[in-house]
Amino acid sequence: MIQLHNVTKQYGPFTALHSVNLELKRSEFTAILGPSGCGKTTLLKLLAGFMKPSSGEIYMDGRLSASKSELIPPEKRNIGMVFQSFALWPHMTVYDHVAFPIRHHRHTREEWKQDIVARAQHVLKLVGLEQLFDRYPSELSGGQKQRVALARAIAPLPDILLMDEPLSALDVELRMEMRNEIQRIHRETQASIIYVTHDQGEALAMADKIVVMNGGKIEQIGSPEEVYTKPETAFVASFVGKCNMIKGKWDNGQFCPEAFPWESWPDIGITDSLKKEGLCPVRPEQWQLAGGSAEGLKGTVLSVQYQGKEVHYSVEVDNEIWIVHQPIFARRFQIGDTVSVSVKAAKRIEVPVF
Ligand code: ATP
Repeated sequence: MIQLHNVTKQYGPFTALHSVNLELKRSEFTAILGPSGCGKTTLLKLLAGFMKPSSGEIYMDGRLSASKSELIPPEKRNIGMVFQSFALWPHMTVYDHVAFPIRHHRHTREEWKQDIVARAQHVLKLVGLEQLFDRYPSELSGGQKQRVALARAIAPLPDILLMDEPLSALDVELRMEMRNEIQRIHRETQASIIYVTHDQGEALAMADKIVVMNGGKIEQIGSPEEVYTKPETAFVASFVGKCNMIKGKWDNGQFCPEAFPWESWPDIGITDSLKKEGLCPVRPEQWQLAGGSAEGLKGTVLSVQYQGKEVHYSVEVDNEIWIVHQPIFARRFQIGDTVSVSVKAAKRIEVPVF
């Protein structure tokens, strides 16, 4: 279990993390999600022990691991790390990369130190690299390099695996494959994974728990379904759910949009904090499009993108642009068409697969 109590990190006068409180359970897969510069890497570096917080404390399994005056260095922690850049050693083979931490990590089991080859073979098999023992990094593809980085990190079986945007250097197809790989490794090793990403699809698809950050603060902590379907702040609604944020008034469980006060929309599961702010976040798939003569707000189609399972539209309604996703079997519209936009009444909407 990892606990952060009021952790603040300053770089000179700049505060990168503001009084962060967080609890991460053993064996949990946690994604730290947020836009560039929100403090994700800073949080990961603090968890790794690369630096001290400016104030606050970090506890690991009940033991103080970092504060303004104390720091257990990374080599004394039972952690593994995987970075976006792979950070492989050019003069070492695939086998050497995996053997090195087995030999030198202070938490490696004694039986594995006695038979490094067997442990290395086991780990390389786990990541599908058993055929490439003798290769150097320059002789590997991007996906294979990332697998080596992963194998190196898990070889000593760390309690905690810290991953900083590990898939962002890979192409889309490889990213999908590696997502599955990382999830499988999580199941097999039971390590706690802390996975930094700015990609909401990645976080939703992989994590047990998502910590959404913005401007050095935590906006929301919850399961993927919670942060997607029950965003607590306008930021989470637009960053994670890609919501259209509509301003208006909540009254008796019905929403009247400011620009269209005669309209009345159902409560599609909006949290109280957003209701208090007079906001109704509508996710792209919660809109319904119909022909211009049907009931609903009139808009003009500005763009149409075919996406296989869905068609993505941008629709101009009263000088605002709304993003609308419609299933492929729904009626199709063209750029310039007049359409009617309404909100689907369904209370529960499934999280789409990313
Ligand atoms: P990205 O997704 O772009 O990697 P991030 O969420 O990981 O961003 P951090 O690297 O944690 O963000 O940086 C948080 C903020 O702290 C940024 O505004 C960054 O410019 C600033 N920062 C990071 N490291 C330092 C440093 N050593 N000195 C001064 N400012 C820093």
